Amino acid sequence: MTHRILILGGTIEARQLAGRLAARGNCAVTLSLAGRTESPVEQGVPVRSGGFGGADGLAAYLRKTATDLMIDATHPYAARISANAAEAAARSGVAILALRRPQWEPVDSDRWTLVDDGAGAVRALGGARRRVFLALGRQEVAAFEAAPQHFYLVRSVDPVDPPLAVPEAVYMLARGPFAEGDERALLAQHRIDAVVSKNSGGVATYGKIAAARALGIEVVMVRRPLLPEAPAGQSVDDLMAMVDHHFGPVAERGV
Ligand code: NAP
Repeated sequence: MTHRILILGGTIEARQLAGRLAARGNCAVTLSLAGRTESPVEQGVPVRSGGFGGADGLAAYLRKTATDLMIDATHPYAARISANAAEAAARSGVAILALRRPQWEPVDSDRWTLVDDGAGAVRALGGARRRVFLALGRQEVAAFEAAPQHFYLVRSVDPVDPPLAVPEAVYMLARGPFAEGDERALLAQHRIDAVVSKNSGGVATYGKIAAARALGIEVVMVRRPLLPEAPAGQSVDDLMAMVDHHFGPVAERGV
């Protein structure tokens, strides 16, 4: 019997999970992406792209495709799709599991200032000119036009277009993972004195946090949004075990 699984993705873990489930003989996996990234990395499994049209649209998709299980493996800051997923699961009766990546915790000599959103980050930076690294998505950096006195180093996967209406900004296009040593060099090269970051968790983007600590640089950390309750694991291994429990165990082929 084939189990039809929809994975809501856009993360490294979603891609890994999809690959491992697809390697099983009895899972038909579809990975769903929002379709925002101009050249998404190869996912290795069948992909559908673009929004569903809210919770109603997602519930209709689950019914139409006779999906047996939905896995929310979206980014911790993708709160709307996670809320839609929980609601669509309830409406359609399709089971849901979630991969909730643990957040980073501050350690000794971290200098974190916690804020709720981009506007809070702007306030935390203060009025005096600073040299700021914005490690945020291209949609989120617009808030910093409210503080044009700062220098900004902006790193994103896709170009920030139009560029920020601020006098001094440098743009970098890059996709993680980012190693701590490279992040240190980047912060030093641009004489950065504040990093604005989301608390994404995981190892791929932790380098800048460790680099900021090593250099004594403040991190303005945007708090995570609230996510809906769902049966959740913290890692790909956790989710593999939860899928086994849901359907009954099947050996992975050749891995
Ligand atoms: P969001 O605000 O929670 O979602 C906005 C809308 O985008 C959703 O209502 C949904 O449209 C659509 N959508 C989002 N994720 C989708 C998916 N995996 N498949 C199909 N439709 C999806 O999401 P976001 O923060 O813009 O993130 C978009 C994507 O980028 C997600 O896949 C997320 O995992 C990934 N990502 C986000 C971040 C981040 O910091 N937010 C970082 C890395 C990766 P409809 O309502 O029309 O269905």
